[in-house]
Amino acid sequence: MSHALALEGLSKRYGSFTAVERVSLDVEQGAFLTLLGPSGSGKTTILMCIAGFVEPSEGAIRLDGRDITPLPPERRDFGMVFQGYALFPHMTVAENVAFPLRVRKMGAAAREAKVRGALDLVQLSAFGDRLPRQLSGGQQQRVALARALVFDPALLLLDEPLSALDKKLRAELQDELKALHRRVGRTFVNVTHDQEEALSLSDRVAILNHGKLIQQGAPAELYERPATRFVADFLGKSNFLQGVVREHLPEGFAIGAGATRVVQRGGVVPALGAPVLLSLRPEKMSLLAEGEAAENVVGGTIASWSYLGAGYALNVETPDFGMLRVTLPTWNAPIAPREGLAVRLGWSASASVPVLDDPA
Ligand code: ATP
Repeated sequence: MSHALALEGLSKRYGSFTAVERVSLDVEQGAFLTLLGPSGSGKTTILMCIAGFVEPSEGAIRLDGRDITPLPPERRDFGMVFQGYALFPHMTVAENVAFPLRVRKMGAAAREAKVRGALDLVQLSAFGDRLPRQLSGGQQQRVALARALVFDPALLLLDEPLSALDKKLRAELQDELKALHRRVGRTFVNVTHDQEEALSLSDRVAILNHGKLIQQGAPAELYERPATRFVADFLGKSNFLQGVVREHLPEGFAIGAGATRVVQRGGVVPALGAPVLLSLRPEKMSLLAEGEAAENVVGGTIASWSYLGAGYALNVETPDFGMLRVTLPTWNAPIAPREGLAVRLGWSASASVPVLDDPA
């Protein structure tokens, strides 16, 4: 059975240092939640509080509404996969997976059936007799997943489970982990500082910085509507257009920055004269052809560019917004980029989103 998890005002202090500050989160049953944030933002501390290895200074952890904060880790019965796999090297794959069942004193016949089921789940049925060192890194990590899931845990906790793997293998395992989550239908809580992993794996992402929950939501929601500069910058790349509200329009407002006017549709309309920061993703701008129009147009000069295979990344120097990063698909780029080339950038008024500037 799948379970719902709730964190209520969770804080953790080490002396005068606050590692986690009043974090509240609801995780629906069967969800895949990722805690995402830079190093030191408190992700692992939160996961360890959920697991029961770290005692919160304040707040509560609930499983299906029941307060589990006072329970020791072994009474929580959560599955865990941490970085660096840590399989028992002298045990076969099947013995590794059977280990949590032995600890729980399950009979041999039931145990074997469970181990078979768990190895099937991670598509390693043929590898039961091997030793961990006879497996690739990705296979070892799948064994660790099978071992964490074999006793039907209420929650699966994952701490950077893929970080020790190379990039290609990591991408493969990401797909597998996602499919595995669908197959087992349990609640997963994952920790990572890799934003692409968070976007591709999770159905909810919670973004942390300095121990605080900054924003949470579905991946697309966070990417398309970041609330703050930090979120826009941490989740993908973004340009920031700074200006002052000059006009209110039927469908939004216009900001001015120097001689440039930019129209914004969507988001809360600030007062006239208020300073505004717009986040604009590099892929949401295009290079305009001669005579081509767009709702927003800014001229600039290509300062530098790079070829990335699927796309070009351009740094375009503009008079009123400084350097803007623009990405273009290579296959239909309107021009061959060249340093010093004068270009016109165009974008739709709904391509950008107003964000709050983070406190310094
Ligand atoms: P990373 O991605 O680097 O693992 P994280 O987001 O998981 O980082 P945490 O490990 O939760 O961060 O640490 C949050 C902060 O709490 C860090 O500044 C860390 O130094 C501090 N911290 C963690 N454990 C302790 C401890 N036992 N005593 C003192 N400070 C601690």
